Amino acid sequence: MSKGTRYIVLLGDGMADRPLAELGGRTPLMAARTPNMDHIASEGVLGMVRTIPEGMALGSDVANLAVLGYDPKKVYTGRSPIEAAGMGVDLGPGDVAFRCNLVTLGKGNALDPDTDLDGELSPEFIMVDFAGGHPSNEEAAEIVSFLSDELEEEGIEFHPGVSYRHLMVWRNGQEKLVVDPPHDLTDRKIAQGWPRGAAAEKILDLMARSVGLLADHPVNVRRVADGKQPVNAIWLWGQGLKPGMKNFKDVYGLEGAMITAVDLLRGLAVSIGFKVVDVPGATGYLDTNYEGKASAAVEALEDVDIVYLHVEAPDEAGHSGSVTDKIKAIEDFDSRVVGPVLRGLKELGSHRVLLMPDHATPLEIKTHSGDPVPFAIYDSEISNGSGRTYDEACAASTGVHIENGHELMGKFVRKEL
Ligand SMILES: [Zn+2]
Repeated sequence: MSKGTRYIVLLGDGMADRPLAELGGRTPLMAARTPNMDHIASEGVLGMVRTIPEGMALGSDVANLAVLGYDPKKVYTGRSPIEAAGMGVDLGPGDVAFRCNLVTLGKGNALDPDTDLDGELSPEFIMVDFAGGHPSNEEAAEIVSFLSDELEEEGIEFHPGVSYRHLMVWRNGQEKLVVDPPHDLTDRKIAQGWPRGAAAEKILDLMARSVGLLADHPVNVRRVADGKQPVNAIWLWGQGLKPGMKNFKDVYGLEGAMITAVDLLRGLAVSIGFKVVDVPGATGYLDTNYEGKASAAVEALEDVDIVYLHVEAPDEAGHSGSVTDKIKAIEDFDSRVVGPVLRGLKELGSHRVLLMPDHATPLEIKTHSGDPVPFAIYDSEISNGSGRTYDEACAASTGVHIENGHELMGKFVRKEL
């Protein structure tokens, strides 16, 4: 049986950026050597797209939802319900998922945090570490199972995840609550992000009880003895109800698969009916197994019509603020993912490639921005030879601009671009 056109999305998380003085006014995409991405841009269609609707949180969840072809304004309910899907935890209507971070709070200031909290929770405390000193998975499992034993009651469940990132589900709970992400409170008083709204009382009660419970926990006694930060509280945030995304196949008529090392992307995949292809050694960092991801993507296209290949490393480099790391992450993505995928696709016949980041992670701000990002679409049946290169300036100069990012997927799979 002959298969139809194969589709692949090559997504370099956070690779878009802004011009930098130290690169002579160029962006990392302009400075990096990227012959394979430039080939896609030269032979295909190049333009700019806004992936994060104005006013929405500048996160990978919102941005990737749009790239996958879903309008975040209509379907996004919060970060945690997507992670719950990725962890295989099912939510019924009315169930609310919360991200449960293991954190380190302090009574003092950023220079002298004093992490012995005397079993109390106060808005005057500061967020010393939103990641609780990165506990090992074993330490975290011990803490989370202890907290479940002590705090679980009618309707409240804890589910262990990885390191400091866990899940709490409030069955038939309330989601009317505003609470800031703990990574936005680093070294600041938690009063600024204190839970507020109808459900705040319950959430504050759980957070306060966690402080009392964790004070003398054996894991913390060991950590402090080893000179490490204790995990002395939980921070509950990112809550929401199960999102109502339609199956990708029902919307776009194509069977899909996701390749990623990140739980959030895995959750998006599960939520839209994509298969998740596991690749050994895919870490989400600079040392990720790039070649394994590239060959897994080409292989997966034997079974499915569209593959979404996500590489996290350029975003991590953007957050670290290192120009060298970001250029290396982009060059690795080009030579070790984009190149091998393009060569592998030749064996598969007619194919289309969409190359883009989800959002920009500009080095000058070390976090995500809502700037429109460059995209390039290559079609094996069409050749342009425009000589264009894949970067922000070249993409902006074409005048092709898609304001509603979620519309790009439809144009890509229906060959309208
Ligand atoms: Zn990021």
